[in-house]
Amino acid sequence: MATAPLTLRMNERDNVAIVANDGGLAAGTALACGLVLRDRVPQGHKVALADIAAGAPVLRYGIPIGHAERDIAAGSWVHERLLKMPQARALAGLPMPGDGHTTPPAALPPLAGYTFEGYRNADGSVGTRNILAITQTVQCVAGVTDFAVKRIKAELLPRYPNVDDVVALEHGYGCGVAIDAPDAVVPIRTLRHISLNPNFGGELMVVSLGCEKLQPERLLPPGSFAIADEREAVPLDVVCLQDEGHVGFMSMVDSIVRQAEVHLQRLDARRRVTVPASELVVGVQCGGSDAFSGVTANPAVGYCTDLLVRAGASVMFSEVTEVRDGIALLTSRAATPEVAQAMVREMAWYDAYLQRGSADRSANTTPGNKQGGLSNIVEKAMGSIVKSGTAPISQVLAPGEKLQGRGLTFAATPASDFICGTLQLAAGMNLHVFTTGRGTPYGLAAVPVIKVATRTALATRWHDLMDINAGRIADGAATIEEVGWELFRCMLDVASGRRKTWAEHWKLHNALVLFNPAPVT
Ligand code: CA
Repeated sequence: MATAPLTLRMNERDNVAIVANDGGLAAGTALACGLVLRDRVPQGHKVALADIAAGAPVLRYGIPIGHAERDIAAGSWVHERLLKMPQARALAGLPMPGDGHTTPPAALPPLAGYTFEGYRNADGSVGTRNILAITQTVQCVAGVTDFAVKRIKAELLPRYPNVDDVVALEHGYGCGVAIDAPDAVVPIRTLRHISLNPNFGGELMVVSLGCEKLQPERLLPPGSFAIADEREAVPLDVVCLQDEGHVGFMSMVDSIVRQAEVHLQRLDARRRVTVPASELVVGVQCGGSDAFSGVTANPAVGYCTDLLVRAGASVMFSEVTEVRDGIALLTSRAATPEVAQAMVREMAWYDAYLQRGSADRSANTTPGNKQGGLSNIVEKAMGSIVKSGTAPISQVLAPGEKLQGRGLTFAATPASDFICGTLQLAAGMNLHVFTTGRGTPYGLAAVPVIKVATRTALATRWHDLMDINAGRIADGAATIEEVGWELFRCMLDVASGRRKTWAEHWKLHNALVLFNPAPVT
């Protein structure tokens, strides 16, 4: 880490820069440009590079992240109490392809020759892990399923060494919900599509209670799934706990264990094969962001996103409230007018959803974001959007929809780490990239999560939780391109099972959390 005073400015128009030094800089410190700090400025926080008059814009990433509440002298600490947040950009009159003055970016040049070792599925998708997932229709069965899974792991899994894990898809949905409400489509299709995630090898196994609202045929209607091989005539494999054949708790557990073994046998017969990098389906998101997220980790992820798109892979970026303030940047990158309109549709839906709860996008930022130097959602959004790189946006998914086709996709989700990860799993993600500045030990049971630290201090302190240190960019020890390539190669290794992420090593994972915008009863 640099010991000389170091500040980072993102755009030549900016009238603020952030302090890079670990521990911040003391009042009286002279910067390289000659400016002397009037206040102590914590690491990641902004310093005024020029006098900013009351009401004048405070510019970062070349755009106003707010307006000065009062006169701010050059060298002052520009904290969030000095900033008035701008209004959200209206959704009418956005730049759209075909409007006569917006040209979507050209397709990126192809990148050939990269492969990984994956599990090819009957539907053409590719898994990065070989996992038996047990789908549940309702939370009521979670305890029994969990008991059975512990037995499966202890007694069966050692006999099937090619199977990586057994995962119970536990969730809070299924009963006590307004299942016919229009928005119930979101949690239901999310659960359906998660059970079809490529890492589960097309093996569908469901545990049901019996009396719940979300009946197995409603969760997975005939025709909504393809069974892994020629066994098309085989009905959905359901263990129903209320079946009269079950006498006592242990007979339920025995049924689950017995059925699981049928699927384990088939999964165990699978082998990894060499597939092109275009079979990667990567979900990117950030959590516990700080002012370095938009300077180090997210730009490196953005560079890697471009590499993936060039290699023909699928990349999803998400988190509606974190892109809302940059919507004009995104509609102008849409490949077609239809894609731009779909993006506006998702933003409008989310604006209305927040309004129903008397909230707006400013509800996004956390105390930790602010402590880390992010004053408001506009500043956070500018740093978040860079994860999407520079490719044209070719597709938009509503929450819980399944991805079709390749390239760069905006998958609309809340920014909540668990809900975003859950919805990206439903979309068909087989690898997850997660950037963090404040630090979170986030992980998912179904898909490897590569965690990228924004600062060297975090990567050093959490040396056995962070997989990549993008803080080297702020230290001057690596470039954005170098870290982007490092991440790309790390992805191929992790996808191939040659390398485990730290979250996998420690078996850390968070709960699936369904997005349920519909009422509960
Ligand atoms: Ca997030």
